[in-house]
Amino acid sequence: MEALPLRPELRGRSPYGAPQPPAEHRLNTNENPHPLPPALLADLQVALAEAATGLNRYPDRDATALRADLAAYLTGTSGEQVDPAQVWAANGSNEVLQQVLQTFGGAGRTALGFTPSYSMHPILSAGTGTAWVDGHRRADFTIDPAAAAAQVREVRPDVVFVTSPNNPTGTAVELDTIAALYEVTDGVLVVDEAYTEFARTGTVSALSRLPGRPRLIVSRTMSKAFGMAGLRLGYLAADPTVVDALQLVRLPYHLSSLTQAAARAALAHTEQLLATVDLVKAERDRIVAALPGMGLTSVPSDANFVLFGHFTDSAAAWQALLDRGVLVRDVGLPGWLRVTAGTTEETDAFLTALGEVAPAHRSSLGGSTA
Ligand SMILES: *Cc1c(COP(=O)(O)O)cnc(C)c1O
Repeated sequence: MEALPLRPELRGRSPYGAPQPPAEHRLNTNENPHPLPPALLADLQVALAEAATGLNRYPDRDATALRADLAAYLTGTSGEQVDPAQVWAANGSNEVLQQVLQTFGGAGRTALGFTPSYSMHPILSAGTGTAWVDGHRRADFTIDPAAAAAQVREVRPDVVFVTSPNNPTGTAVELDTIAALYEVTDGVLVVDEAYTEFARTGTVSALSRLPGRPRLIVSRTMSKAFGMAGLRLGYLAADPTVVDALQLVRLPYHLSSLTQAAARAALAHTEQLLATVDLVKAERDRIVAALPGMGLTSVPSDANFVLFGHFTDSAAAWQALLDRGVLVRDVGLPGWLRVTAGTTEETDAFLTALGEVAPAHRSSLGGSTA
């Protein structure tokens, strides 16, 4: 059959997406399994009904009220003053990151991220015609600041991605590493903080490094800790000049009135929504604590998931867990699998299944640290 005249950089690529076989316990996409608070559901009905009366009109193109609410949330939780002019929102942080690449990447330009990390960063780069370079990590998945700085100096990327806490490994990145990378790049430095609300006590957001760094961008999402993955609402904080620049590429009226109204209703319930964060962190820590007893280990996690191993064959271990009704993620790292921390019942089911699977599938490296 005749081949389509596909862009060269898209030829031979696979779309984003892990297998979604039916399973009783779905612990593969890092969602928050706790149901939304009834008071929020009631408010959503009112807010959406009200927004529906104005659906004959285009939405607020600048999402002014929503950005003010997001700025208030960031200021309140980080203790850093974040102004609405520093905030930009879109349909998931994926769209935010795509707009960043459309603005600062593109044809003839390069993005660099430290792999293994969020697989959408290279996919969004390819979609915007931005060349991609894999940054290096140590064997324990941490970033060596000196080596990373040297690589950035050599590659001279236009966009640098740091995911903190990192997905799929779970560990937050030292702020000094982020500051060091900023010093050595002329490009924009994007810190993807999708999981930051789950970070261990004492972890400080890169928001604290925004003052005086106009090329630093911190991206966030309501998909994870807020438990609103279906809403599709992501946002960033940066210098107001970055937000101005993004206006050159954003589609007019990209964020629907319904999305803006629903996000504002959700933000009015921030405290209740984030009440589940401590529960999820406790389940995460329970998973981490149970692994050594099974001859397994994990990478230190500041997220709502755990990268665990070692297995002789992660694909076989993945299948053995699925055979017991537990779906986890094979992220393509030999010896490792990733599990989402959710409810107590989910953790119980996961640990029971893993206890059955571990003896046949763990490698002799299993008890050693990552
Ligand atoms: C899940 C995730 C996101 C969230 O993307 P949304 O488009 O906001 O749902 C962003 N970054 C990372 C690293 C993630 O794992």
